[in-house]
Amino acid sequence: MPIRWRLTLWFALILCAILILSGIVLHILLQRYLSNQVDDNLRVISARIHGTLNPEEVPAPLDHEVIHSKLPPINEFASPGVYVQLLDRSGNVVVKSSSLGEQELPVDPSLISRGFAGNDAIGTVAAGDNAMVRVMVSPLYLRDQVLLLEVAQSLNHIDTTMRQLRWATLSSVLLALVLAAVSGGAVVRNALSPVKQITRTARIIETSSDLSRRVGYMGPLDEIGELAATIDQMIQHLDRAFKSQKNFVADASHELRGPLTVIRGNLDLLKRKLSEDDRRESLRAIEQETMRMAKIVEDLLLLAEVESGQVVTQERVALKEIVFTERERARTLAGNRKIVIDQQQDLVIKGDAQRLKQLLGNLVDNAIKYTPEEGTITLSLYQDGGWVRLDVADTGVGIAPEHLPHIFDRFYRVDKARSRVSGSTGLGLAIVKGVAEQHGGRVTVASESGRGSVFTVWLKL
Ligand code: ADP
Repeated sequence: MPIRWRLTLWFALILCAILILSGIVLHILLQRYLSNQVDDNLRVISARIHGTLNPEEVPAPLDHEVIHSKLPPINEFASPGVYVQLLDRSGNVVVKSSSLGEQELPVDPSLISRGFAGNDAIGTVAAGDNAMVRVMVSPLYLRDQVLLLEVAQSLNHIDTTMRQLRWATLSSVLLALVLAAVSGGAVVRNALSPVKQITRTARIIETSSDLSRRVGYMGPLDEIGELAATIDQMIQHLDRAFKSQKNFVADASHELRGPLTVIRGNLDLLKRKLSEDDRRESLRAIEQETMRMAKIVEDLLLLAEVESGQVVTQERVALKEIVFTERERARTLAGNRKIVIDQQQDLVIKGDAQRLKQLLGNLVDNAIKYTPEEGTITLSLYQDGGWVRLDVADTGVGIAPEHLPHIFDRFYRVDKARSRVSGSTGLGLAIVKGVAEQHGGRVTVASESGRGSVFTVWLKL
């Protein structure tokens, strides 16, 4: 059963239960109130009769006519359906009110015996044809005789009232049920409409693989609104991830195709008769391109590992040592360029030493690559607030402002032709960025064309 129908059904059932329960309570209270009213009325009338039938004033022997005349008048409008009857010990009706006409009050032996035993008593007695009467009995002492005073009131009007109440309750329960089902259904359908929207969007994406689709829910930001917004964010995230994956595969294939073409061309040449010099040249080209491919594959694997979001090894890394070792390594590659250390504080962070060495290595390699001979490369390691700053500054060619936003992208190179010659892969800075982010840090760059660049790695202390 759809959730909409289930919720509506629950609403209706709960409302129904509440109405029935309150109907029962109202029924019980009203019946008790009306019955008490009847009993009070009977008591008042009975007391009034006791007050008027003063034994002193009733002549002996008992004259039924006199007694009848002394009965207080009963107002049919104020107390409708009230009857009075006097019985003697043998159960004969001595006197009765004119409202009884030819009829007599129904007899309840237990009530009568309790009355003659000297007690006032009240009870409900069946009067035929489903009619019930409430009867109050009390002994009436007149000179030498004891009579039983019976004052009764029909319970017909209470029955009628209660029957009407039952019908009213039942019909209001039915009406409320219908209203609850209709309005509850509409409210629930309205509240759940974004869920339908979400399902529809998900189904379209599933069948068409079109990740540009969005739920696009415009309603209030309640629980369902939040769900719709979160799903949109998730689709956007997936969309970006798929696009970047696609670009990545395309870029990687493109990068590998270059060396493969060179290798295949040289292999074709080698199949022909070549001079010794040409043969050596072809082999050298094949070797160079193979090394280039190996470097691309190695960098790609490292990048995939760095970008996989895995937590790095959490060892204590003395950054000063890494900087020192890197300077020694760089000196062997730097030719006439100067490699200097400007500041070097003794800073230790938690992380992966191997990856951090790779990060610094990539920055220094770039600095050497893009700085002419006689230039200077400066390394600095110092604390800046809660951060460790690792600067690699050079006096090289610098980077034009239009290239700066892209240099951390995979396979992005400012000068493609020159990069090929220098054997770069365009992955170095992407790896630097990935490693920094893996350590909860980031990389920034400040550069000016023709004057040099400063790459700064920020790592959390
Ligand atoms: P590559 O393997 O080409 O060096 P990187 O990702 O390391 O790839 O760098 C991307 C581009 O950024 C380089 O092609 C280069 O143009 C530019 N670049 C990187 N470092 C420097 C630097 N120190 N000075 C000038 N340009 C640089």
